[in-house]
Amino acid sequence: MSQDFLPVAMPDIGKLEEEYVLEAVRSTWVSSIGEFLGRFEREFADFCQAEHGVAVTNGTDALILALRAAGVKRGDEVVMPALTFAAVPAAALLLGAEPVFVDVDPDYWCLDPRAVQRALSSKTAAIVAVHSYGHPADMDAIAAIASPGKIPVVEDCAEAHGALCRGRKVGSIGVAGCFSFYGNKIITTGEGGMVVTGDSAFAARVRMLKDHAMDPQRRYFHLEAGYNSRMTNLQAALGCAQMRRIEGFLAARDQILEWYREELADVEGLRFNPRMPWARPVNWITCAVLEPRLAAHRDRLLDQLRSRGIDTRPFFLPCSIMPPYLHCRTQGVEDTRLPCTERLSASGFNLPTHAACDRPQVQRVAGEIRRALSGIH
Ligand SMILES: *Cc1c(COP(=O)(O)O)cnc(C)c1O
Repeated sequence: MSQDFLPVAMPDIGKLEEEYVLEAVRSTWVSSIGEFLGRFEREFADFCQAEHGVAVTNGTDALILALRAAGVKRGDEVVMPALTFAAVPAAALLLGAEPVFVDVDPDYWCLDPRAVQRALSSKTAAIVAVHSYGHPADMDAIAAIASPGKIPVVEDCAEAHGALCRGRKVGSIGVAGCFSFYGNKIITTGEGGMVVTGDSAFAARVRMLKDHAMDPQRRYFHLEAGYNSRMTNLQAALGCAQMRRIEGFLAARDQILEWYREELADVEGLRFNPRMPWARPVNWITCAVLEPRLAAHRDRLLDQLRSRGIDTRPFFLPCSIMPPYLHCRTQGVEDTRLPCTERLSASGFNLPTHAACDRPQVQRVAGEIRRALSGIH
């Protein structure tokens, strides 16, 4: 077997990116001031149908800054899904707050609103609605629960650039939307992130906090302890090039998912990315979930694919089982267990989804999955 290794994710960097980055380098504006920065913020905020965009160093910093701007502080609780990337609880914990982990909906894998309702307490300072694996959380149901107590809802859109929830772009619905432009996200700036918001005071606060909390009216006077979370103009140049291609990226990722669905349609016990009637998800990364009968064999399946040169990744582990969060409160719909999170975490995996995934490569992956499963059935 000498076929090339097929990675699970890969950035799509072309001539335009080269051109823009070279232009930024030649301008000598290589640090965190420069023309590409304002342009990237404007273009990305427009894409999100949001008024303001504040570019930052990465998606994790976007979350920390947005939660802090939303008022989260020591001793507060922040409600979030248990099935997500560990940056989400880390952002809360690093602000001195306590994550409260909620189960996800079995049909679309994001916060279960009924569990959110049960998780609220007098200490709840924010809810992080993560649009997981490209599918939007049910923002209307979450808003209905959050509004009476005026609890801010921060959207984590790191996996869902361009997704729609009842016709609205993710990131434009809650108090703020946090994006990541890491190399495996829908667009990349190498490392990078953005906070988008419709609230100009919120945007100004994030902008202040990301720049050492320096008083915008008084240079080198610092109003509180801030961060250096500034994106560079070089990164923004990459971002501007990627913005010119984003619609093409999204369409290509949808096409890849369709190919996987078609090529594996005859395989029993496998389902792909969800799509609720009220949602327009994006295919950040192709997801496959094994039915319970096969779930115990998932890791063996992934090992076999790897041995055939196909990279995959298992779904996220529940954050609630990791050392910093073992003490955290959890909330399901019926009780404090997280059955949907646990089931998905143990039975889901991601398939290669990037520009090199043409139909023959998808056929190759499908063939290897079929072969591996036939050994398991
Ligand atoms: C990738 C990701 C982040 C973190 O983004 P970084 O840019 O890697 O810091 C946060 N939340 C979710 C849901 C992510 O997938």
